Amino acid sequence: MNEKQSAHGLSQAQLDSFWMPYTGNRQFKQDPRIIVSAEGNYYTDADGRKIFDGLSGLWTCGAGHSRPEITEAVSKQIKQLDYSPSFQFGHPKAFELAHKITEFMPEGLNRVFFTGSGSESVETALKIARAYWRKKGMASKTRFIGRAKGYHGVNFGGLSVGGISANRTLYGQGIDAIHMPHTMIEENLFSVGMPQKGAYIADELESLIAIHDASNIAAVIVEPLAGSAGVIPPPQGYLKRLREICDKHNILLIFDEVITAFGRMGSKTGAEAFGVIPDLMTTAKQLTNGTVPMGAVIAKQEIYDTFMAEGGPEYMMEIPHGYTYSAHPVACAAALATLNLLQEDKLIERVNSISPHFQKLIHSLKGSQYVSDIRDYGLTGALTIAPAPGEPALRPYQIAMKCWEKGFYVRYGGDTIQLGLPFTTELNEIDNVINAVGDSINELS
Ligand code: PMP
Repeated sequence: MNEKQSAHGLSQAQLDSFWMPYTGNRQFKQDPRIIVSAEGNYYTDADGRKIFDGLSGLWTCGAGHSRPEITEAVSKQIKQLDYSPSFQFGHPKAFELAHKITEFMPEGLNRVFFTGSGSESVETALKIARAYWRKKGMASKTRFIGRAKGYHGVNFGGLSVGGISANRTLYGQGIDAIHMPHTMIEENLFSVGMPQKGAYIADELESLIAIHDASNIAAVIVEPLAGSAGVIPPPQGYLKRLREICDKHNILLIFDEVITAFGRMGSKTGAEAFGVIPDLMTTAKQLTNGTVPMGAVIAKQEIYDTFMAEGGPEYMMEIPHGYTYSAHPVACAAALATLNLLQEDKLIERVNSISPHFQKLIHSLKGSQYVSDIRDYGLTGALTIAPAPGEPALRPYQIAMKCWEKGFYVRYGGDTIQLGLPFTTELNEIDNVINAVGDSINELS
């Protein structure tokens, strides 16, 4: 055992037992990076080093780690009601939270279905969309349209509408889905905030509908700002155009706001930031500040009413769908505390006040070697790193690891380095993390 391994105290057998998700297991287990605690904007690793959390967990912990407002609500709840079935029974916090969530939603989105994660939210939204058309007597509307570079979680529905090939190729046939092109075009390189050009890319949706026919299409699903593929803000006018085309052809529009809902865009949702209202919205992550797994799908009332309209015996369920952990009381307590905290500490306003500094600094990395694009919106941003020959992910991986050595956690994904700062970040911490990224890139050569 080298010094680092002995610091974390884990045996090789323990390390080997855990098949880690989205991780190069073989590399990790030779040189583990173990996080033992977190507070505010920092982790502490097994060596006692403080690490700045440059991705707010996985875009989850915008309010900072271990907020007493949330941890106390969670511990109180777990003692009072640790679990409650949410099939045929309810507990007060589930209803309180559903109503609270609607305070964060744009006009008309006011019916909330609880899930346990972002992936489950996506599956739920896709199922609601298909079932909705069936209830309306249009059972042939089953196909989905996603987008290249889209990320919608790891279950088969989300994988099928998703557009990141590295996540799909191992798994073979999914559900019936086709894809629009992404919006990253040459003219938009180094755009600051929303790119100006590219609204016309939405017209590709018209072409797909012409080929596949609207009578076969249930819904279009996009992240309003694509996160996992490397922070791709929508071109101005693009989402509005998608909305118009969906309306024209009677196709539902789903926004996957697992990253963008609850503050990260400097607004309550991406829908609010970009001024376009979807029919269904998927959320998770920031909903509980990452503390307890939970997701939620928020539907337009007309969709909910369509399910409720049908008569039937009193025991009949309008939608045979739900999870053992839907509306888990501990998750509900965490989410209520989180949403109250966002409001009381004015954290969304804070995102707005500090994001111009973040924007200025991240774009100051333009001109660094290997940096072939920079994108940002709100408190999230990414750099595209020119690939080493045949190794698209090697340099981003090396940059992220150098940042970790310097005491900064940032994410590498595909050919990008991604940042998603806590809403509680101080201006000098923005300077520090951007300097660390810049220095790490310089050290590559
Ligand atoms: N949709 C989007 C837009 C996401 O960013 C993610 C997670 N990164 C998911 C879905 C899946 O969420 P989870 O990992 O909680 O299943």
